Formats: sequence, C-alpha cells, structure tokens
Amino acid sequence: MDEKKQKMLKLRHTAEHVLHTAMQKLYPNLKKAMGPATDDGFYFDFDLEGKVTEADFPVIEKEMARIIKSESKMVRREIETPEAKEIFAGNPYKMEWIEEISGRGEKFSTYQMTLPNGKVIDEDLCSGPHLDSVSEIGAFKLLSIAGAYWHGDEKNKMLTRIYGTAFETQEELDKYMWQLEEAKKRDHRKLGKEMDLFSFSDLVGSGLPLYSPKGAFIRRKLTEFVEEVQSSQGYFQVWTPQIAKADLFKTSGHYDKYKGDMFRVVSNYSDEEMFLKPMNCPQHTQIFSAQPRSYRDLPLRITDFAMLYRDEKPGELSGLARVRSFSQDDCHIFCREDQVDKEIDEVLQMTKKIMETFGFKYKYRLSTRDVEHPEKYLGDPAVWDKVEKWAEEIMKRNKIDFYQGPGEAAFYAPKMDLVATDALGREWQLSTLQIDYVMPERFDLTYTGQDGEAKRPIMLHRAILGSAERAMMILIEHYAGAFPVWLSPIQVAILPVSEKVKEYSEKIAKELRDKGVRIELVEEADSLGKKIRNAEASKVPYMLIVGEKEAESGQVSVRQRGQKDLGSMTLSDFAEMVIKEEKGKTI
Ligand SMILES: [Zn+2]
Ligand SMILES: [Zn+2]
Repeated sequence: MDEKKQKMLKLRHTAEHVLHTAMQKLYPNLKKAMGPATDDGFYFDFDLEGKVTEADFPVIEKEMARIIKSESKMVRREIETPEAKEIFAGNPYKMEWIEEISGRGEKFSTYQMTLPNGKVIDEDLCSGPHLDSVSEIGAFKLLSIAGAYWHGDEKNKMLTRIYGTAFETQEELDKYMWQLEEAKKRDHRKLGKEMDLFSFSDLVGSGLPLYSPKGAFIRRKLTEFVEEVQSSQGYFQVWTPQIAKADLFKTSGHYDKYKGDMFRVVSNYSDEEMFLKPMNCPQHTQIFSAQPRSYRDLPLRITDFAMLYRDEKPGELSGLARVRSFSQDDCHIFCREDQVDKEIDEVLQMTKKIMETFGFKYKYRLSTRDVEHPEKYLGDPAVWDKVEKWAEEIMKRNKIDFYQGPGEAAFYAPKMDLVATDALGREWQLSTLQIDYVMPERFDLTYTGQDGEAKRPIMLHRAILGSAERAMMILIEHYAGAFPVWLSPIQVAILPVSEKVKEYSEKIAKELRDKGVRIELVEEADSLGKKIRNAEASKVPYMLIVGEKEAESGQVSVRQRGQKDLGSMTLSDFAEMVIKEEKGKTI
C-alpha cells in the first residue's frame, strides 16, 4: 500500500473510533459491534434499542466534531484475555471476538482515546493502525445508514450500520461528495433499469444477472472487442465445462483455499464431489497436458469466456458490482522462461490499446506476499523473490505507473493488478497479470526441451477487462449510460415529424440498416418534442429528424445526443460518419 493510502486508512480508522465514541455518548445503552476503515471511508455496526436515522446525523456529527477538537490521543495497550473479558463484559460481539482471538492464541490490543489530561473517554478492541491524535482528522461526514446482520448472516440480529468518510482536508471531502452525487446519477443499477439493460429476478436468484437485448448486445460487443485484439496476437479460444471434480481443485490448491467460496454440485448418480468452476486456470492446465508439447509449440495462448460462479455472501451482492455468475476475458499463456518478457510486453501493449479505447487512465498495483504470513502461499520462497523482482523490472522497463501492494498476492503467484480511473476519478481494479510457477508444478505440466529433456513451462494468467459484468457496471457509470457509437445498441433514432413522411422514413431506415447501422424507427404518434425527449433519455447517439423538407430534398436533419444540432446532410454522408465512428471506436 502506498504512503497516502496508509495515511488515509489510519485517518478513517481513527474517524471510526470517533464515531463510536460519539454514539456511545449519545446512546449510552448501545452495544458496539464492529467496523472497519474501507477504501473510501469507514462504517461501524451498532446494536441499538431505539431507531437512529439520517435525521440524527447533525447531532452525531456535532458530537464527533467536539471529540476531534478535544485533541485526544490514540493510545495502544496490550492486554491479556481476562482483562479483555472484564472490559467488554456484557457485549456479546466483543466477547465473541475475544474468544476467537484467544482461541488462536493471539494477543489483544486495545486503543484508548485519551484526553490531554489523561482521562480515557473510550477503549475499543482494535489492532490499529490509527493516527496519533484525533485532531489530525481534517474533514469528515456521515453518509448513510443501513441494516446489517452480524457476520452478514441473516440468522443473526439486524444491526444498525452507519457509513461515513474522512479526509485530510475539506477540499478533498468536497471533491468526494461531488463524485458521490454524480455517481448516484450514474448508478448502473438505476441506469440499467431505465435503459433496460439488465435485471435480477427473485425466481432466478440474487447475484445472477439477466441481460435484456440491449444489455446483452453491449456485453457481447465488449467480449468481441477483446477477442478481436487477442486473436490478432495469436490467442486461441477454448471451451471448457462449467463443472469439474473436486480433485481438479484439490490439485490446483483452490479446494483448500477457496472451497467456502465455491458452489457444490450434486449428482443423482454418483457420490463424486463436484463444483461449479470459480476460475478457468485448472481446466486450462488440462488442455495443455492433453497433447505432448515441445519447446517449438510454445507459447500456447488460450482464452476462455466461460461462465464462472462464486458463492458470494448474500449481503455483499450488489448490482453488477458483486455477482455470483460472471465471465472473464481470461487467458493463460504456457511458455518457456525465456519467453515471459516478450509475452508480458505484448499483454501490456494490448492493455494499453483497450484502456485507451475506453478513455481510462490506468496504473498497476504490484501485489506481493504478506511477509508476516508465508503460510498463506504455495511454492518456493526463492521463486517468489525472483518473480516479485521480475514483475517490478517489467513495470519499469515498460515505463508503467505502478505502486506496491504488499499482502495482495494470489496464493500461488504475485500479481500485477490493473487499476483504471474512470470519468469521475474513481479507481477500479479491473484485472490481473501473473507469472506462475506453482500451477505447472502442481499439475506436473511438461514440454520437451531442445535437449530432449522434460521441462516445466511457466503459466501466465492474464485478463484485461476482467469480469464482463464488472466491466459493464464500470462502463455504464463511466459513460453515464451515453455509450459511444460502437457500443450503442441503437445508434440512430429516426424521428418522423408526421404521417406524411412515413414512406421516406422507412426508406431511410432500410438504407441505414442495409449498411449495418443500428437504427430504430420511432413510429408512435407522439409530438416531435416528446420523441426527441425520449430519444435523449435513452441516450441514442444520433437522431434524424424527418419532415417534409427533408423528404423533398432527400436529405436528413441530424441531431447529436446532448442537444447538438449538426444541420442537414445527405444520407450517405451521415451513414459514412456513423460507420467511421463505429470502426474507429471513437470515445
Ligand atoms: Zn481501530
Ligand atoms: Zn488463471
């Protein structure tokens, strides 16, 4: 994590303590459950009797401001289990943590919020880190309130979750609030419904998106685009089943690490343990080993858009951001060690092209091991050292903006994680690139080297857009639903002014359709103003207004999305303009 992120984490963690200290003061009977600092703020869960609403925020914020002014210090204390139990007696949430932590034989730390005169105004079980003093919180705001179950489990009691955020300066907070306001307008769940792109059904199940024709079109366009870039680089598409035996995941190591996140599949005829696949990597190793491979056959680059399934916690599912079914532009490159650099350079070029097409700025996070917990990773530590250093050299050689992400590696390899910045300045992790020695070893993959000896290939894992569902979400919000011409399901709305021009409108529609332009002929008897308003609301890039004047002159009157009038032109000039935009994938 970079320094700024580390600082923000401390600041928000501290703000979270200020929140629960204020709440405790205002609602003396509440029980504090828990709360973390998040990427853009913090939250805390309270077990409260009465009801707290957003209308209570000004009072809570006032109390928080008072605490911040108190210049209290955050003082760390190491304590033993009996003392912890004494301090938090009567709070079942803290007691549960205490049992769990002492069960693991770990030590406890608490943080005391201590006034300059030495008086302790709050103490909470926490491992930190925090700011030294609460007065370093420059600006904060409470944002929303929601119900949340303890451990996300609906069998537990519903707690009150209060969300907030904090920054070093008021200016940063103001910018964030603007982003939030704009993000609300662009919310992909809202636009997805208004534009009829996708939906969810209780009968199908939560986290399982259903795409309507327009949404399915955009999703298909995205994968076709990636596919087109990939096939020009020598990638071949494969096809693999959605289910596989547990043995496959036991060999890959996913069984031990991810079993809890995988859907179990039950057969009526056998007792074999099977799972829906959460990723493609293990299957692809079997495609590699299905044939004898020689050094001349490498690299083998295979790509797979198969559906993947992960058993996410129901409480964490949200629109297309967190789903249970998705597919990725997932590729695996099996290659020799001497081919890794060239392969990755090419992947980085492809990434650049794809990111520029969407107008995303981007950088990489170099996700390395958590040095404190070597047991979380498979494989030889010496190889990890080598690959972590190698990944850094690759970033430097390609002059790519990157930052360190210690502890963020996959269990089998370090990752180069692609982080893109959207039109609102929000950062999204899209996908990942990994140099993996572990999977080939675990699956005993070999190829015949130039010397006739069996050699171990290296497996590169690579996605660019990542999950199509997440990409859809990010792009809907990035473009605020106003997709560029190449991604728009309908590129042109033809708006006849009256019945009199019906024939001419149909002629235009046919000509454009024949040229491959995606059109919609709006034949309702509405007024022209209403037709324009509807077309604007559905964010169609172009409108053709067809009146008697146009019918006589054989021209079209063109209006561009966002109130821009482009005047009259011939139909063929207009069609050429649209086709050029489609081909050029203009932003
Ligand atoms: Zn804390
Ligand atoms: Zn993989």
